[in-house]
Amino acid sequence: MPAEIINGKELAQQLKDNMKEEVSKLREEGLIPHLTVVLIGDNPASKSYVKGKKKASAETGIASDIIELPESTSEEKLLTIITELNNNPAVHGILVQLPLPEHIAEQKVIEHIDPNKDVDGFHPVNIGRMITGKDTFLPCTPFGIVTMLKSKNITIAGQHVVIIGRSNIVGKPVGQLLLNENATVTYCHSKTKDLKEFTKMADILIVAVGKPNVINAAYIKPGAAVIDVGINRLENGSLTGDVDFDEAKDVASYITPVPRGVGPMTITMLLQNTIKAAKGLESQ
Ligand code: NDP
Repeated sequence: MPAEIINGKELAQQLKDNMKEEVSKLREEGLIPHLTVVLIGDNPASKSYVKGKKKASAETGIASDIIELPESTSEEKLLTIITELNNNPAVHGILVQLPLPEHIAEQKVIEHIDPNKDVDGFHPVNIGRMITGKDTFLPCTPFGIVTMLKSKNITIAGQHVVIIGRSNIVGKPVGQLLLNENATVTYCHSKTKDLKEFTKMADILIVAVGKPNVINAAYIKPGAAVIDVGINRLENGSLTGDVDFDEAKDVASYITPVPRGVGPMTITMLLQNTIKAAKGLESQ
């Protein structure tokens, strides 16, 4: 039997519908969740992501604005703008769109954002809160992946999760979140010897590499849940994931497609974090 497809687009829409109701209630109480996105330069991919974030915010009633700055903006100027946003009580969530121009130190910028407004969940304080299981803003892509697994009641506790990829924004945090959910977690990366040996043991296989078809049926344990995080643009302009979907769907029990998989969930979790920021973290 072919795998059941976890449709991220549909799930994202359901979550947005629920958020719309919640935001409407908050607005009645006088609280308008507000996201400010800072965009520097003319990177077309970044521009398109930021546009998507504004559109999704509007769909749920979250107020949002974009501060667009030229490529030549100095680090000092950017830090000053972030300080102003940190001090502005009407702004609940701050997101600086990455990547930044080379003359600006990314980590310095991330660490300058008030952790209580860090809706991307990249600030070291929030990473620490996540690792210790405290209430925090979970990084959006990993948060989306866990939400997708839970939406299908896929057992996580006691399961062997194998993650390919160890980036700070996807691989590492998704492993941590699933460890918090009592999974047994194995990380693989470009230096892993015999990748297949590990992936064949996975009850849940998460692939976040950024190379098309790096995983095919031979790497997948029959009945596994396969989450494809990769977004790769082919020469013909179409998008594809890291997993050979046509092969994998005949071996796996659940699979996420690309597009309409993890991608739409990422923005949705950003909105969820913005609402959380407006309401305040439990630890505040
Ligand atoms: P990175 O490039 O930061 O990380 C890629 C990881 O894959 C690294 O850990 C690297 O290992 C590992 N890797 C590379 N080649 C191999 C290989 N042949 N075998 C095993 N491991 C390998 O990417 P990101 O984590 O930022 O993103 C991964 C993918 O997910 C990209 O396609 C990106 O576009 C997509 N993405 C999708 C999102 C969504 O919303 N759906 C959000 C964010 C990213 P090493 O560490 O040793 O170099």
